Amino acid sequence: KSTAAAVGHLLAGQISIITGASSGLGRATALAFMRHGAAVVCADRTPASSKMQPTHELIREHGGRSIFAQTDVSDEQSIQRLVRAAVAEFGRIDIMVNNAGIAHEASNPRPVWETTEEIFDSTWRVNVRGVFLGCKYAGIQMLGQTRIPERQRAGTIINTASVLGLLGKSGTPAYAASKGAVIAMTRAMAMDYAPHLIHCNSILPGFTRTPMISTLTADSEVEKYMSEHHPLKRLGEADEIAEAAVFLASDMSNGITGLNMSVDGGLHSQL
Ligand code: NAD
Repeated sequence: KSTAAAVGHLLAGQISIITGASSGLGRATALAFMRHGAAVVCADRTPASSKMQPTHELIREHGGRSIFAQTDVSDEQSIQRLVRAAVAEFGRIDIMVNNAGIAHEASNPRPVWETTEEIFDSTWRVNVRGVFLGCKYAGIQMLGQTRIPERQRAGTIINTASVLGLLGKSGTPAYAASKGAVIAMTRAMAMDYAPHLIHCNSILPGFTRTPMISTLTADSEVEKYMSEHHPLKRLGEADEIAEAAVFLASDMSNGITGLNMSVDGGLHSQL
């Protein structure tokens, strides 16, 4: 899909932060937000993964507004700097996408008895603490902002969970637990934020073609097996997750908060 595709207006004038924006789902979401008129603060540990052009440069090349903010989502001060950088550049934050995540088990699945405390803790630092910090500090900023009068909501938070937060797959205890925590945290935080008109939802992707699962997709037999496992008989595409994020960030979803939305080709509904 062309990144320069027709500009929509669903997010016109809105200011967004996307963590993990240098790769995979975060990059696709940043580009989709750009196409729908949002300014994007691209937050990641590195400006670009592998040999790709940094996401914020690509956005600017297409006439969008974007900066890069080097961020470690698991570090409180780093998240606070990110929020300050976004406000310094664009004046406010309307959308926070807590997407950055790690999955040791994607390339190295291990049963629980071989999962070390280091793997467990490092997974939780990024996937749970990172989401918590992003929700907390972007939320504090949103709580203190003047509302845009024509908008029903004061802000939007979107977390990236996973179908593995709902369903058991062997060899993934640390990752699955972290995503289950994101699902529970999203519901609870949505209740905190609802009286303040800040919407908080999560997206649960199924297996989606990104660098995170490249070890799996590199093996055509494994890829075929995984595709067959999805009721739609294929892996997800990053743009499909990005489009769900556009929906949750836009006024199209004004009635929705506390939702953990599966975008998984039917995987979680399957017997
Ligand atoms: P990816 O590896 O392609 O991208 C993840 C990005 O997050 C990278 O750019 C990485 O640098 C960044 N990141 C990691 N730790 C960080 C930290 N501490 N601070 C800042 N940035 C950090 O993976 P992806 O597939 O795009 O994954 C995005 C999210 O989607 C993750 O939360 C992942 O768990 C989730 N998810 C992915 C799939 C899938 O099949 N690809 C399925 C379900 C959920």
